[in-house]
Amino acid sequence: MTRTHEQRLGLSFEVLEGLSVGDALGEALSYNHYRVRDLDDFSAFKPGTVRYTDDTAMALVIWRALAMHGSIDSDQLANSFAMEYLVSPDRGYGRMARRILEEIGAGGNWEQLSPSAFGSGSFGNGAAMRVGPLGAYFASDIESIPEQAAASARVTHFHPEGIAGAIAVALAVATAVESRGMDPTTCIERIWDSVLALTPESEVRKRLTECRGELDHFSVARMVGNGAEISAQDTVPFCIWNACRCIDDYREAFFSTVEVGGDCDTNAAIVGSIVTAFSGVSGIPEDWHRVRESLPISPPTKSDKPC
Ligand SMILES: [Mg+2]
Repeated sequence: MTRTHEQRLGLSFEVLEGLSVGDALGEALSYNHYRVRDLDDFSAFKPGTVRYTDDTAMALVIWRALAMHGSIDSDQLANSFAMEYLVSPDRGYGRMARRILEEIGAGGNWEQLSPSAFGSGSFGNGAAMRVGPLGAYFASDIESIPEQAAASARVTHFHPEGIAGAIAVALAVATAVESRGMDPTTCIERIWDSVLALTPESEVRKRLTECRGELDHFSVARMVGNGAEISAQDTVPFCIWNACRCIDDYREAFFSTVEVGGDCDTNAAIVGSIVTAFSGVSGIPEDWHRVRESLPISPPTKSDKPC
């Protein structure tokens, strides 16, 4: 399907909403993750008071980059990530991310800083957590996703596993968008097929292959990881598997994601991205949406033109 820039941005914004609600509530409830289903009443939170974290902050930067340019320019994105960090550094950024972004903000070059992180580049889950809006924007051009997702990832996550994680999540989001209106079972098969077809050979892809046919979310988390290591390898396979299991049910997707523990905000951000890509923003429970801190951007208008 051919879409205008505004239509692509609109889909991207929907996914950003699903990402950020998962991120904010996942973080807020992470300390009680084992009993998250008992905490379904969010009336204790005042509207707009549940803060989003670095997952949303960086996804916002990607959305703005696409709104402005219609594609990812790694140099521009690196500088924008650094500026966002300098404006609001208290969003839970990891230690290496803080170091890289501070050095870029001080005039450093991401092409030197990112590959040297941890000796061979970071394979953290930070590139996967923020990429959902990019997957939605390029949903109708899925062949471009590996290149665009890699361009968004490598400024901070240069290791092939960090990049593979971002590509896999972006592919899942794109395929979910393109499967809207289909029955959930068809959507799920399409997501698995496209993710395994276009994700580069990697530990991320290997673990996805291993868990595809599993049935229980606790078992899958034990098998492939729950994000406790903060790596792409131990985060992305479970998130894609669980998003597929709950592709038309944001509430169940969130509960089952958070209750396995691990990196709760990032896991819920990734799962929220994929589920909202299929179910739309109307699938996010209204009371959950209401308590999240408001986003500093608005849905797209015709004035949002790519350069
Ligand atoms: Mg976070």
